Amino acid sequence: MEKIVDFIQETFKTKEFIPLHEPRFIGNEKKYLNDCIDSTFVSSVGKYVDQFEKEFASKIGSKYAIATVNGTAALHISLILADVKKDDEVITQPLTFIATCNAISYIGAKPVFVDVDLDTIGLSPKSLESFLKTNCELINNQCINKTTNKVIKACVPMHTFGHSCRITEIKDICDKWNITLVEDAAESLGSYYKDKHTGTFGKVGAFSFNGNKIITSGGGGVIVTDDEKLAKRAKHLTTTAKIPHPFEYVHDEIGYNYRMPNLNAALLVAQLEQLDKFCKCKKELALKYDEFFNDIEGINFINQPENSSSNYWLQAIIFKDLKARDEFLKFTNKNGVMTRPIWKLMNELVMFKDCQSSDLTNSKICEERIVNIPSSVIL
Ligand SMILES: *Cc1c(COP(=O)(O)O)cnc(C)c1O
Repeated sequence: MEKIVDFIQETFKTKEFIPLHEPRFIGNEKKYLNDCIDSTFVSSVGKYVDQFEKEFASKIGSKYAIATVNGTAALHISLILADVKKDDEVITQPLTFIATCNAISYIGAKPVFVDVDLDTIGLSPKSLESFLKTNCELINNQCINKTTNKVIKACVPMHTFGHSCRITEIKDICDKWNITLVEDAAESLGSYYKDKHTGTFGKVGAFSFNGNKIITSGGGGVIVTDDEKLAKRAKHLTTTAKIPHPFEYVHDEIGYNYRMPNLNAALLVAQLEQLDKFCKCKKELALKYDEFFNDIEGINFINQPENSSSNYWLQAIIFKDLKARDEFLKFTNKNGVMTRPIWKLMNELVMFKDCQSSDLTNSKICEERIVNIPSSVIL
């Protein structure tokens, strides 16, 4: 284990504490922020929000992008756009960050958990299909869960750590069962599946720009879609459902104050300019880690799955068992190298312990054995 700590210190060229993921502000961040402050348009109106939305949509190959205050808000609105209502059900993976399930819960809907694939760490099309075949029935073109008598309205796969899940297979199954596909692409900006950007396969996709993500606006998120009507509705809902008017305040439904401030967007425009560079650095780091861990008994580096190109946002390794993982976590964190286990499974948290789930063997294996290791862009 000393050998691993030495390698990571050498790679990051420091003996000081090495965090899991630090943001890098090495482009036009200060320039655009100063410009934004000088303009006085720091809040919900301003050119940087519009510029960011245009540039982001073009970057990932989506028709529309709507910036939001954070990724959770982007997911919340995405689920509303997918017509998820109170008491509906939404299929997702138990191995995800809490935000996925929180957003589902804000609507009053319930998550249903299906297993992940071991190679992608993302929702498994096999597990999804087998769950639907065993438990569901199409009645009047609605997917009805026979166990609960509820409608399964949407499916939210997540591209874990930037590794793309089998998204086209998942989409085909969703289409067959009339389930709307919403992608939680919060971690996968810069990641592609068969040359198409993650987040653009579903009816709607959501990204996050939290401080620990591959690019950041401090806090922020974005909703993407190719559907003009949904894009307009997303903009409306995220801006308090105010009817556009030069001076009057009239709102036509309960909306949300989810708009990204112009100040954050200024930072984000500068960050987006550097995305390709950040992805390249992370790929190089992944190559180094992969080569190094090849020679380490009992630890495997997690590489990008077949048919995909990962942003390698958070680098990850997998141990042979829980005990080896725990020893590693203790040793590295005591010795100034920050490492972190993957999330606890959502179906094991008190809020979701009563939710229905498929067999979750793979999720459990991942939960017990996967660890994230330092992943920052090296300067
Ligand atoms: C970061 C993240 C989000 C959104 O988080 P915010 O902090 O609200 O921006 C959603 N889902 C996943 C999987 C995430 O990692």
